[in-house]
Amino acid sequence: MNTTPDSDLYGIDRWGYGLLEVMPNGDVGLLDPLKENSAPVSLPKIIKDLKDRGITPPVLLRVNSILENSLRQLNGSFADAIKSCGYKGKYRGVFPVKVNQQAEVISRIVKVGREFHYGLEVGSKPELLIALSQPLAKESLLICNGVKDNEFVRLAILSRKIGFNTVIVLESPKELDIVLRVSKDLGQKPLLGIRIKLTNQITGNWAKSSGDQSSFGLRADKVIDVVERLREENMLDCLVLQHSHLGSQVPNINDIRGTVKEACRFYTELVALGVPFKFLDLGGGLGIDYTGEKQANENSINYTVPEYCTNVVETLKYALDEAEVEHPTIVTESGRGIVALSSMLVFDVLDTSLYDDADAVKANKDDHHLIGDLVAVESYIVPERLQECVSDALYYRDELRSLFMHGNVTITAMAKGERIFQHVISRIKKMAYDTEISEQLEEHLIRFADTYHCNFSLFQSLPDVWAIDQLHPIVPLQRLNEKPTRRAVLSDITCDSDGKVDRFVLADGISKTLPVHDLKPDEEYYIGVFFVGAYQETLGDLHNLFGDTNVVTIDLTAKGGFKLLHEVEGDTISQVLEYVEYDANRCLSDFKKMVDAAVAEDALSIKERRVLITAYKDSLKGYTYFEEA
Ligand SMILES: *Cc1c(COP(=O)(O)O)cnc(C)c1O
Repeated sequence: MNTTPDSDLYGIDRWGYGLLEVMPNGDVGLLDPLKENSAPVSLPKIIKDLKDRGITPPVLLRVNSILENSLRQLNGSFADAIKSCGYKGKYRGVFPVKVNQQAEVISRIVKVGREFHYGLEVGSKPELLIALSQPLAKESLLICNGVKDNEFVRLAILSRKIGFNTVIVLESPKELDIVLRVSKDLGQKPLLGIRIKLTNQITGNWAKSSGDQSSFGLRADKVIDVVERLREENMLDCLVLQHSHLGSQVPNINDIRGTVKEACRFYTELVALGVPFKFLDLGGGLGIDYTGEKQANENSINYTVPEYCTNVVETLKYALDEAEVEHPTIVTESGRGIVALSSMLVFDVLDTSLYDDADAVKANKDDHHLIGDLVAVESYIVPERLQECVSDALYYRDELRSLFMHGNVTITAMAKGERIFQHVISRIKKMAYDTEISEQLEEHLIRFADTYHCNFSLFQSLPDVWAIDQLHPIVPLQRLNEKPTRRAVLSDITCDSDGKVDRFVLADGISKTLPVHDLKPDEEYYIGVFFVGAYQETLGDLHNLFGDTNVVTIDLTAKGGFKLLHEVEGDTISQVLEYVEYDANRCLSDFKKMVDAAVAEDALSIKERRVLITAYKDSLKGYTYFEEA
């Protein structure tokens, strides 16, 4: 066994946001970002401890101090930027509920956010109802985006009477009709915002939500229509907020600057037309550096949170001063930036399909010459000739297969060829892992990568990995003081060929395989997927009826331990059956009828009947994922 510690192979220091560290025993440890020099808490130990309590993997782990830290950092950085730039307005952020609606997360954000007058943003009626049940601080905003009907608008307007600063953001001229009507009916004025469609085009995965293609917001001509209509109705004094949102995970800080500048142009022009704005809402978009590359691409960003804040404030101040317009309160709707880092998914490896380093096989005199050719490939496996070796080995093997098809070699001969091929490819793979290789060769070799079968559903827990090729850092959580001996792709527990992960963030870039260790008998091998707190929880679906995973919220303690704050058990099988309209009791009684019919025909003993029915009943109450006996 090679014991060279190679902790940086996975690039944990590069993408880990200082939240993770490899411990001397090889475990991945969690650090408390709120405490300096905190002792790391071993992730495998947390998982084992949870297992002892009956909470089995897959588990979604939420870490409170990480969430709190992100929230404090954003508010603190805006406060710092406002001070250092001499900006005269305040910052009042809101959390967009759609990014993580889970009760535990929202209540934590609201609680920690109170001292910053942090508010909420909603985009639908259910989200509005969530927000209206939260004890927001007095000055916090409740911003309503999305399509709104009468009921939505009525609730929003009336909620002001019980102390909410609810702002209805107008997204269309039609919405204005509804607002005017409801407001007249109630005899109460609303707080209004207006959503601007900016022309600036951003890059990245969400490019389409900016510029002309965006389906949201009002073009300049419509904006003017709305303003004039409000003026006619004597309600222009209600229009207090300008809103724009340029899409999520904006990779390039200069796109942010450009958009802020454009938003500011609208703002100052509208103020000149007499709009009494007090808030400038710049939407979300603050990204996460999932790969640690620190550059502008889909999964990385070229700025930090303090830089983002400084750039926003600086750009605003300059443009506002030039137009001699009073500094408004800055609002942002960062979702991903607040919650992404705080959750991680942990699962166990259930099984492996290894493309193994079979023992070398010698060719005999009377073997077909292709067998000898295959054996010979091993003699020239050197870094410079890897592609040639792969091509040759594939050619000889395929020739042999075609001879077999036509009845020219026996199954024994072909089996020998397959064995030699496997050995040769294993040797090539080993060398390739320590060599810089071309993308094409990597593509070739991935066909022969080992597969680690893991206890999770990509569709339920990592929907963006499946749908938009989102990259999340993934690492084995233990034995990182041992050199990994294999490279694997991960497949999930669904029966879908899309249910696999084959892009990984490593220290030296993106790889199609993950370095992993050989499994040891009777020892769990845990893998962690990091930064999954944003969007993943509710976008996930019930493919193959794998339900919600167990979820726990923890706090890290000073001495390298943890406290379990909250636990939500994952879906049971009867719950997922109900989602698709089955009645679990009905299923059970139908099953019993068939069992009893079999007993009546003497096909089943009554003892077997009991075993069978107990198994069915137990399963209904059980976890949808693989459970140990
Ligand atoms: C989704 C959304 C956000 C959140 O964006 P992030 O990139 O997660 O910060 C903010 N505002 C609106 C209007 C949104 O639709």
